Amino acid sequence: MSQKQDNKRRNFIRLMLVGGASLYFPSCLSEGDEHAPIKQQPKPQDIDTVIKEIEIIITEQDVIFLKQTDPAYTQRAIRFNLRVQPQPKIIALCKNEKGIQEAIRVARNENLAVSIKSGGYSFEGFSSNNGGLCIDLSLMNVMELEPDNSLRIGPGAKLGEINNYLLPKNRILPAGSCSGVGIGGLALGGGYGFLARKYGLTCDSLMEVKMVDGQGKIVTSNDHDEILWACRGGGNGNFGVIYEMKFYTQPKPKQFTSYRFKAYKLDKERARKLMQAWFENAPNIPNACFSAFVLNGKTLTLLLTDFENNKTALQTFITLFKYLTDKYSENTKTDIAKALKTYYGRQEPLYFKNASAGLYKSWADVDMLIDGVIEKTLNARGIIFQLNTLGGNINDPNFESQSAYPHRAYPIFSELQAYYDKPSQEAEKLKVFAEIQNLFHAQGTFPQYRNYPDIDFPHWETAYYGNNYSRLQKIKKEFDPENIIRHPQSVQLDVI
Ligand SMILES: Cc1cc2nc3c(=O)[nH]c(=O)nc-3n(C[C@H](O)[C@H](O)[C@H](O)COP(=O)(O)OP(=O)(O)OC[C@H]3O[C@@H](n4cnc5c(N)ncnc54)[C@H](O)[C@@H]3O)c2cc1C
Repeated sequence: MSQKQDNKRRNFIRLMLVGGASLYFPSCLSEGDEHAPIKQQPKPQDIDTVIKEIEIIITEQDVIFLKQTDPAYTQRAIRFNLRVQPQPKIIALCKNEKGIQEAIRVARNENLAVSIKSGGYSFEGFSSNNGGLCIDLSLMNVMELEPDNSLRIGPGAKLGEINNYLLPKNRILPAGSCSGVGIGGLALGGGYGFLARKYGLTCDSLMEVKMVDGQGKIVTSNDHDEILWACRGGGNGNFGVIYEMKFYTQPKPKQFTSYRFKAYKLDKERARKLMQAWFENAPNIPNACFSAFVLNGKTLTLLLTDFENNKTALQTFITLFKYLTDKYSENTKTDIAKALKTYYGRQEPLYFKNASAGLYKSWADVDMLIDGVIEKTLNARGIIFQLNTLGGNINDPNFESQSAYPHRAYPIFSELQAYYDKPSQEAEKLKVFAEIQNLFHAQGTFPQYRNYPDIDFPHWETAYYGNNYSRLQKIKKEFDPENIIRHPQSVQLDVI
C-alpha cells in the first residue's frame, strides 16, 4: 500500500470511529464460539490504539479457536504422555505470529492462563492446562535452510521431520533422538543427543528467536540479547511464545557406529560394579561419542555410539565392557538417516512417568545412595534407571556464559522411567518411582535437567536453573509481568 493510500485508509477508519461505527473482527471462527466477535466502541482517546488493531485483521489463516465441544478439540488436546491429559477451555491453533498475538489478547481478556505446545512431549503435560488457553504451534513447522547453512524453523517442527529435511541437504541439527519431540520445547530447555558432546546442546546452536511476549508484543532476540540467553535452556513456557527460531547446522556425519553390550539376570553386586565402571570410563570417551547405561529390571543394555571413526580411542572402553557383560554387537552404517531411525522410538502416546534423577560429576556423588536405587530397579517391573553422557563440548565456557542452561560441569545425567499399559497400574508404578526419587532427595538437592521435569521436585527452581533463576525472573518481570504464561514449574515473579 502506498503512503497516500495508507493515509486515506487511516482517515477512513478514523472517520468511522468518530462516527461511532462498531467494527467486527472475525478473530474466532469456530462455529458458535462465544469469543468470536470482538466489538469495540472506542473512547476518543483510544482511537490511535484501535487504528493499530484494525490494521491487524485476524482470520482463520491466523488462528482457529477450538472449544471443548468442537470436533477437532479432542485430537488437539492429546499429549504424548497419557498419564497427564489436561483439558484447556480453549485451544488456539495458531498459524502465524498475528494469530498468537490474538490468542494472547483473548486469554488476557478472559483472564485465562496460557500454556504453549510445540510437540506436546512434556513429561508432565506442561504444554497444556485445565480450564485455560493452550497456544498450539504444531502447524507452525516450516523449515528453511539458508545459504549460510543456518536453519530457520517454526517451533512445531518435529525432530524426525528436521532430519528428513536436512539430511538430504547434507546437514544435521544436533538434537535429541526421538522423532516426535518438538524442536520448540527441546531447544528451549537444552536438548541433548548423539552429537551434543561435539557441538553442544541444541540450545547452543540457537542463533535467533522471535517471540510474542505475555503482553502480546513481538520481541526479537536481535533487539533483546537477554531473550536469546534465556531461550538457551530457560525458555520453556516461562515468559513468551517463541514462534521462530534460527539454528546453526552441522555437516551430516559420514558414518554412525553403535556398540551394544548386554548383561542379564543381574544381582545387586554385579549391577553396582558395572555402573561404577561406566561412571569411571564413560565421561572419557571422545567427543563424537555418546553412551547410555540402561538398567531395565535385571537386564542392562549399554550403548556406545560414534559418528566419526574413533574405534582405536574406544578400544579400552570396548574391551572392558566386553569382558564385564554377556553379549556384544557392533554396527556401522553410512546411511545416517537409517541409523538415526533406529532410535526414533514409538510415535503413539503411552502411559509413563519419566524424570531427571540428577546430574553427577563422578561416582562419589552416588556411591552412598546407589545401592537402594539399584535394588529397587532390579526388583520392579517396568522401572528403568538410565545414565547418559553429557560433558565434552557441552562444557565449553563460551556456551556457559551465553546460556541459561546451568549444568555444564556435570558430565553424567540420570533419568528414571516407569512405563505401564493401563491406568489401574499407575499407583503402584508411581509409588516405586517416588521411593527411588526420594532416595536421591534425601541426600539434598541435585541439579536436574529442565526438559525432564518432575512435578514433585523440591526446590525445582534451583535444581533446574541454579544461579540463573533470579536472572530469569527479571526477564519474566519484563516480558510477562502479569504471569499470563504459566505452568506448575514456570519461572515465578516472586523472589524465592
Ligand atoms: C519420548 C521422548 C523422548 C525424548 N528424547 C529426548 C532427547 O533425546 N533429548 C532431550 O534433550 N530431550 C528429550 N526428551 C525431552 C524433551 O526434550 C522435552 O519433553 C521437550 O520439552 C519436548 O518438547 P515439545 O515441544 O515436544 O513439548 P511440549 O510439550 O510442546 O513443550 C514442552 C515445554 O516447552 C514449552 N514450550 C514448547 N514450545 C514452546 C514455545 N514455542 N515457546 C515457549 N515455550 C514453549 C511448553 O510450555 C512446555 O513447558 C524426550 C521426551 C520424550 C517424551
